[in-house]
Amino acid sequence: MSILTISNDNLDIQFEESSIIYSKSNSRPSKSLIDPEIYTKYKLIKETLIFSDELFLECINYVFNSIIKIDKSVYILDKETYKVLNFSDKKFKTINDNLKDKYLNYIIITNDIFTYPKMQYFYTLAGYFQSVDIVMSQIMCYIVVICKKRIKNLNLEIKNSFIKDFNIKVDEYILKCIKHDNSAILNNFIDTNKKISGMCSSLSGINSVNREIYTINKYYKAFINKECNIDCKCKPNFIFYSDILNCHICENCLVLTRLPLVF
Ligand SMILES: [Zn+2]
Repeated sequence: MSILTISNDNLDIQFEESSIIYSKSNSRPSKSLIDPEIYTKYKLIKETLIFSDELFLECINYVFNSIIKIDKSVYILDKETYKVLNFSDKKFKTINDNLKDKYLNYIIITNDIFTYPKMQYFYTLAGYFQSVDIVMSQIMCYIVVICKKRIKNLNLEIKNSFIKDFNIKVDEYILKCIKHDNSAILNNFIDTNKKISGMCSSLSGINSVNREIYTINKYYKAFINKECNIDCKCKPNFIFYSDILNCHICENCLVLTRLPLVF
């Protein structure tokens, strides 16, 4: 997981609206953002296990100290108002039009950054805001793009839903970071799935899968909500080895450790 900040200072984006190349459908994942082999393996997984339904909170927790929810789409974060938008249907025209209303700050939720035009678009946004933070979840494929303090009107006109190329060059370092994170999260996901399928081949395995998933969900919830029971003495009957996370977990205080526990 990383938090990548694209700051408006020293940013030189030579961008012309007339150079946008439109497309009739979504772009394919780009080699500059995801290893094709990893992506193919990831796409073969049919059933996705949901390990947390609080990924939005997880991501904004990495950046903000005070979080007040006004409603589903408006939050006050560190005393600033943010409008929350979804970029789930991958339609550039919709997200771009939605970014044009009265708010100064925005958070865009998206599932992934696998395509080059999407990366180009977020990069371009840094030209209109003081900074743009790309924050990835550590738990699942989930990203929030935090656009802080609009500095000029979004005069960018996007005519159609799908875009093939914005014709701007994204900084190599940014591409490298995103590709690294994409590979890590997908590899982890592929690994976990493989382990779970292996465990599900026996009845006792199914029992431990259920126990693990239950505890891992509980652990993530505590992690996201910053709840920790530090007074736990971690008694042996609470400790079990999680094959999924490759570590010991205390089911009581939810401490994870890779070290062998000595009692
Ligand atoms: Zn404990």
